[in-house]
Amino acid sequence: MFPGTEDNARFAHIDFSIGVLEMIPFPIAYVNTNHCYEYVNKAFLDWHKVALADVIGKKIDELLAPSVYELVKDQIEVALSGTATKYELELPYKTTHRYLEISYTPEFDTSGNVKGFLAFTTDISERKKGQEINSRLAAIVQSSDDAIIGKTLSGIITSWNNAAGKLFGYAEEEMIGQSIMKLIPKGREGEESEIISKLQRGEKIDHFETKRITRDGKLLDISLTISPIRDANGTVIGASKVARDITARKQIEELNARLAAIVQSSDDVIIGKTLEGIVTSWNSAAERLFGYSEEEMIGQSIFKIIPPERMNEEYEILGLLKQGKKVEHFETKRMAKNGKLIDISLTSSPIRDSSGTIIGASKIARNISLQKETARLIHENEERFRMAVEMTSLGTWEYDPKGANLLCSQESRKICGIPDGVDPSFTDFLNHIYTEDRNHFLRQVVQVIKPGSDDKFDLEIRVHRFSNHNEIRWVHIRAKMFFEDDSLRGRLIGTMLDITEEKTRELELKESVELFQTMADNVPAMIWMSGTDKFEDYFNKTWLQFTGRTHEQESNEGWLEAVHPDDVKRCIDTYNLSFKDQKRFYSEYRLLRHDGEYRWIADNSVPRFSPEGEFLGFISACMDIDDQKRFREKILESELLFKTISNASPAALWMTNDEEENVFVSDTWLKWTGQNFHEVITKSWMEAVLDADRESMTTEFRECFQQRKNFKKEFRFKRYDGEIRWGLTEGYPFYALDGEFSGFAGSVTDITELKKLEQRKDDFIKMASHELKTPITSINGYVQLMLNIFNEADEERLRASKQTIKSSLNTISKQVVKLTRLISELLDLSRIESGKLELHRTAFDLGTLVEETVQDIRQTASKHAIILHNDFEGKVFADKDRIGQVLLNLLTNAIKYSPDSDSIEVCVDNNKELAVITVKDAGIGIDSKDQIRIFERFYRAEGKSEQTFPGFGIGLFIANEIVQRHNGSISVQSAKGKGSVFTVSIPVKSEPNKD
Ligand code: ADP
Repeated sequence: MFPGTEDNARFAHIDFSIGVLEMIPFPIAYVNTNHCYEYVNKAFLDWHKVALADVIGKKIDELLAPSVYELVKDQIEVALSGTATKYELELPYKTTHRYLEISYTPEFDTSGNVKGFLAFTTDISERKKGQEINSRLAAIVQSSDDAIIGKTLSGIITSWNNAAGKLFGYAEEEMIGQSIMKLIPKGREGEESEIISKLQRGEKIDHFETKRITRDGKLLDISLTISPIRDANGTVIGASKVARDITARKQIEELNARLAAIVQSSDDVIIGKTLEGIVTSWNSAAERLFGYSEEEMIGQSIFKIIPPERMNEEYEILGLLKQGKKVEHFETKRMAKNGKLIDISLTSSPIRDSSGTIIGASKIARNISLQKETARLIHENEERFRMAVEMTSLGTWEYDPKGANLLCSQESRKICGIPDGVDPSFTDFLNHIYTEDRNHFLRQVVQVIKPGSDDKFDLEIRVHRFSNHNEIRWVHIRAKMFFEDDSLRGRLIGTMLDITEEKTRELELKESVELFQTMADNVPAMIWMSGTDKFEDYFNKTWLQFTGRTHEQESNEGWLEAVHPDDVKRCIDTYNLSFKDQKRFYSEYRLLRHDGEYRWIADNSVPRFSPEGEFLGFISACMDIDDQKRFREKILESELLFKTISNASPAALWMTNDEEENVFVSDTWLKWTGQNFHEVITKSWMEAVLDADRESMTTEFRECFQQRKNFKKEFRFKRYDGEIRWGLTEGYPFYALDGEFSGFAGSVTDITELKKLEQRKDDFIKMASHELKTPITSINGYVQLMLNIFNEADEERLRASKQTIKSSLNTISKQVVKLTRLISELLDLSRIESGKLELHRTAFDLGTLVEETVQDIRQTASKHAIILHNDFEGKVFADKDRIGQVLLNLLTNAIKYSPDSDSIEVCVDNNKELAVITVKDAGIGIDSKDQIRIFERFYRAEGKSEQTFPGFGIGLFIANEIVQRHNGSISVQSAKGKGSVFTVSIPVKSEPNKD
């Protein structure tokens, strides 16, 4: 419809009718070589809004605005040079722009020179616009990332853009004219017909997600948007299909979903925020940790959870995030809804959009309050562990079964003697284990590295040191297998400790234990031993032989079965108490011997302690003390007996040790002297001995002691009341059972009375010889006198001497009576002493006897009047002469000891079954202390007045003996100077003594 260039050229050669040109709606002009317009048509004048006269003959540059002329002038030169040219020009037109297509067709003269050119201008604005849209669409289609495919309703592909090529792998040439079915995977063929029927109904299909197949057979997730293409009449003639590969999106979606789930379920607090700090996401862990719900936080400022004093910190973090930097494991504090500060570890990363622009930040906060505490504890434990390790010289090692490497700590290296620079492999290490221990160790390792079996072991092995193969160390190995989550990989971590010394000690100990055992089994003592569990766990052979039981029977508390039932409780109580106090104890109990006899056992137990002072239990040595105990009991008995006897004995007993020290005196001595035992033992018992006797006594005793001779000595000592007493001590050396000298033992007898008796006996003998001698001398004198008278034989003299002779004979007779009495008293005394005083009993009238006796006395006693009261009736059965003798003695004494008085009173009476005779005088009387003693042998009251009375001191003794033998009694009532009354009572019908 537009004149082409060739046509225009053809027209230029013919003389075109001006009228025709005038009808053409496009501006047309003819310009000559001088650039001047020769012709313009009406449309030209309209276009430029000028009159014809203003255009013809004018130059182009005069008509066109300079800016426009600039755009066309080159093309004008081209045309005037003879070349047709066509160009487009965009010119401002009214408020818009117009696109012009301008063609210049040169005109030649016959010689071929250019005369001018014909210029056609076509307004191509509309075309241009359409073209522009198309090309822009095409460009868009082409450049679109979405695959855009055009197709007919029968499914024939009419267009195919680059993205479709990229997506499906087919080039445009391969697909145009091909069926769309090429892209549809098997099983989805139906989809296409459905799509087509939808399209025919004019419906659009939006985001239909399906799968398509690529050239290389890969299935793609795609999202299809299919729009019907209609012709000018609105009939659907095809479809445009936009396919978007959503495989990645699908994956991302899936990933997102997964991430979201992770984020939600994460125990870590995960927060999304904008760079301004506005919270965009908030997971449940955040909710749990801070107490704010998602609704409370989304859209809110993150500053809500930041403690005021840490605001700056957040600004800094946001600043770093804006610069695209990540903040990692930043430990800080955040505030929960309840105001509590929480220790957290923060990792914040910038979030970028697809273009890489930072649009926000994710924040992972981990509550490390617990972790911090745990970390502190771990640190502390590690520190402790480290210290412990250092202190115990514990080596550590690590073995990764996959890697076969053995990592040894410095200490481990030291233990095994691994030289610097040598890193032994596990096998190297194995080769250094002592052959006997190697397999055992290896078995343990194999065992623990197997998942599911015991994960640790503990054993002692010997290791040849790397530095010197001959040097063997005992090493205590402990190891534990640490598996990773999958249980497929793990590390064996272990420790090693050099226990060579302990082992050596242990072996030594074992040897010494064996030695002890042998010894313990062979000692005569019965030994048991207990541990810290209180139970006896060792009994030696001697014990077992004694009880006749086995070790098993005795163990624990078995041995108690053999303890006497009465002793069991005491045994247990003693043991428990001592165990508690860890103190030694001694106990005695009866234990059943194998032969069924209970024997007393002395159990001497001492606590056992380790060298470190740790209580280990008890060890005890027991002895059969049954015999000893019985013996001891006997000794105790005899000791008691001895004590009793010694104390009961009238003699005092004493004992020295083998060093002459006094170790014992009996109570009697203490009673006598008023000393106490302590005094006697520490000082000397001789303190009580009179000074005059002490020295000689000491010397004599020492001599006897040294010569082990019997010792005997009389001495004087001071009694508690100050009285001087005579003692006789006799001592003998005594010897222990083995014959060894043990000391002296002896007694002290109080011989004061004996001494006095002896004195009296001496006095008596003196007196008796004097008393005997006196009458004999007197008799002898008278006899001589009478012999002289008879020798003169002179009757005269005889007669003259008759009186002399008579009185001489009287005197001789008296002296003979006296002598007879004296001798009969002496005879009586010896009879009494030899127990041969005989009684001749008869029944006689006592009153008459008393009367006759008094009568006899009256004959001789000239001075005293003897008054008799005889009230006695009946008879007595007694020895008449002896009773007469008693009465005579009493009467003689009464006269003798009352020289200054002149009467004696005698009474005889019945008193019930008794005959009672009293003889009363008004003489010198008897001191009360002498009143009992006057009946003793030779006793005579001492005093000035008594000395003048002759006597032997045996009259009352004999009288008392006679009365006693008649079962009667004799007593005295007297006071010094006041006279005395002697009373004799004898039973009236006393039976004669058998003897
Ligand atoms: P003797 O021959 O000394 O009289 P006796 O045995 O008859 O011996 O008397 C013992 C002592 O008793 C006398 O020495 C005297 O001291 C005392 N005695 C006896 N009778 C009397 C008495 N009637 N009055 C005082 N003293 C008496």
